[in-house]
Amino acid sequence: MCAATDNPTIIQRLHKKCCQSPSQYRIACVALNKKGEVLGYTTNKFRKDNIRPLIGSGLHAEAISMAKYFPLGLKTLIIMRIGLSGNILPIDPCEDCQKMARKLGVTIQSVMPGVGAKKKQLFS
Ligand SMILES: [Zn+2]
Repeated sequence: MCAATDNPTIIQRLHKKCCQSPSQYRIACVALNKKGEVLGYTTNKFRKDNIRPLIGSGLHAEAISMAKYFPLGLKTLIIMRIGLSGNILPIDPCEDCQKMARKLGVTIQSVMPGVGAKKKQLFS
Protein backbone atom coordinates (compact mmCIF):
# COMPACT_ATOMS: atom_id res chain seq x y z
CA MET A 1 0.00 0.00 0.00
CA CYS A 2 2.72 2.41 0.91
CA ALA A 3 6.21 2.05 -0.54
CA ALA A 4 7.82 4.14 2.17
CA THR A 5 6.90 1.56 4.79
CA ASP A 6 9.24 -0.88 3.08
CA ASN A 7 12.12 1.55 3.39
CA PRO A 8 14.78 -0.10 5.59
CA THR A 9 15.84 3.31 6.90
CA ILE A 10 12.43 3.79 8.49
CA ILE A 11 12.63 0.35 10.09
CA GLN A 12 16.15 1.08 11.36
CA ARG A 13 15.11 4.41 12.82
CA LEU A 14 12.06 2.82 14.37
CA HIS A 15 14.31 0.24 15.98
CA LYS A 16 16.54 2.97 17.36
CA LYS A 17 13.49 4.72 18.78
CA CYS A 18 12.37 1.48 20.45
CA CYS A 19 15.71 1.41 22.26
CA GLN A 20 14.89 4.80 23.78
CA SER A 21 11.63 3.63 25.30
CA PRO A 22 11.55 3.94 29.10
CA SER A 23 9.09 1.07 29.31
CA GLN A 24 9.72 -2.55 30.15
CA TYR A 25 7.92 -3.21 26.88
CA ARG A 26 9.99 -1.28 24.43
CA ILE A 27 7.65 -0.07 21.73
CA ALA A 28 7.84 2.74 19.22
CA CYS A 29 5.91 3.78 16.17
CA VAL A 30 6.42 5.92 13.13
CA ALA A 31 3.69 8.16 11.75
CA LEU A 32 3.30 8.55 7.98
CA ASN A 33 1.05 10.79 5.93
CA LYS A 34 -0.82 9.58 2.85
CA LYS A 35 2.23 10.17 0.67
CA GLY A 36 4.25 7.91 2.96
CA GLU A 37 6.28 10.81 4.31
CA VAL A 38 7.47 10.50 7.90
CA LEU A 39 5.71 12.83 10.32
CA GLY A 40 7.63 11.62 13.35
CA TYR A 41 8.69 8.79 15.64
CA THR A 42 7.23 8.17 19.10
CA THR A 43 8.01 5.76 21.92
CA ASN A 44 5.58 4.50 24.48
CA LYS A 45 5.81 6.33 27.78
CA PHE A 46 4.30 3.82 30.12
CA ARG A 47 6.86 2.41 32.49
CA LYS A 48 5.59 -1.03 33.38
CA ASP A 49 2.93 -2.76 31.39
CA ASN A 50 2.36 -1.06 28.09
CA ILE A 51 0.03 -3.73 26.81
CA ARG A 52 -2.92 -3.18 29.14
CA PRO A 53 -2.10 -0.37 31.50
CA LEU A 54 -4.59 0.32 34.26
CA ILE A 55 -4.72 3.97 33.36
CA GLY A 56 -5.79 3.31 29.79
CA SER A 57 -4.11 3.69 26.46
CA GLY A 58 -3.17 7.34 26.82
CA LEU A 59 0.53 6.66 27.00
CA HIS A 60 0.79 4.12 24.21
CA ALA A 61 3.05 5.16 21.36
CA GLU A 62 0.12 4.75 18.97
CA ALA A 63 -2.19 6.93 21.05
CA ILE A 64 0.43 9.64 21.50
CA SER A 65 1.14 9.60 17.76
CA MET A 66 -2.51 9.79 16.80
CA ALA A 67 -3.09 12.77 19.06
CA LYS A 68 0.02 14.52 17.84
CA TYR A 69 0.08 13.70 14.13
CA PHE A 70 -3.56 13.29 13.12
CA PRO A 71 -3.94 17.06 12.70
CA LEU A 72 -0.84 16.93 10.47
CA GLY A 73 -2.27 14.36 8.08
CA LEU A 74 -1.49 11.05 9.76
CA LYS A 75 -2.61 8.11 7.62
CA THR A 76 -0.45 5.13 8.64
CA LEU A 77 1.24 4.07 11.86
CA ILE A 78 3.87 1.34 11.94
CA ILE A 79 4.54 -0.05 15.38
CA MET A 80 7.50 -2.10 16.56
CA ARG A 81 8.33 -3.86 19.80
CA ILE A 82 11.76 -5.08 20.75
CA GLY A 83 13.10 -7.35 23.47
CA LEU A 84 16.00 -6.69 25.81
CA SER A 85 18.53 -7.87 23.25
CA GLY A 86 17.04 -5.64 20.58
CA ASN A 87 15.24 -8.46 18.82
CA ILE A 88 11.91 -7.65 17.22
CA LEU A 89 8.90 -9.13 19.05
CA PRO A 90 5.30 -9.45 17.87
CA ILE A 91 3.06 -6.57 18.86
CA ASP A 92 -0.57 -5.72 18.35
CA PRO A 93 -2.18 -2.43 19.28
CA CYS A 94 -4.62 -2.67 22.16
CA GLU A 95 -8.35 -2.42 21.57
CA ASP A 96 -8.51 1.21 22.60
CA CYS A 97 -5.85 2.21 20.10
CA GLN A 98 -7.49 0.13 17.35
CA LYS A 99 -10.80 1.79 18.05
CA MET A 100 -9.22 5.21 17.91
CA ALA A 101 -7.46 4.35 14.65
CA ARG A 102 -10.67 3.12 13.04
CA LYS A 103 -12.45 6.24 14.08
CA LEU A 104 -9.76 8.44 12.57
CA GLY A 105 -9.26 6.31 9.45
CA VAL A 106 -5.67 5.55 10.39
CA THR A 107 -4.09 2.26 9.35
CA ILE A 108 -1.92 0.49 11.93
CA GLN A 109 0.75 -1.93 10.80
CA SER A 110 3.20 -3.81 12.96
CA VAL A 111 6.69 -4.95 12.17
CA MET A 112 6.83 -8.71 12.56
CA PRO A 113 9.88 -10.67 13.67
CA GLY A 114 11.83 -12.40 10.96
CA VAL A 115 13.79 -11.69 7.86
CA GLY A 116 12.94 -8.50 6.06
CA ALA A 117 10.90 -7.07 8.93
CA LYS A 118 7.61 -8.02 7.32
CA LYS A 119 4.62 -6.01 8.27
CA LYS A 120 1.28 -7.33 9.24
CA GLN A 121 -1.68 -5.40 7.94
CA LEU A 122 -4.06 -5.23 10.85
CA PHE A 123 -6.86 -3.36 9.20
CA SER A 124 -7.35 -0.41 6.96
ZN1 LIG B 1 -2.97 0.99 22.97
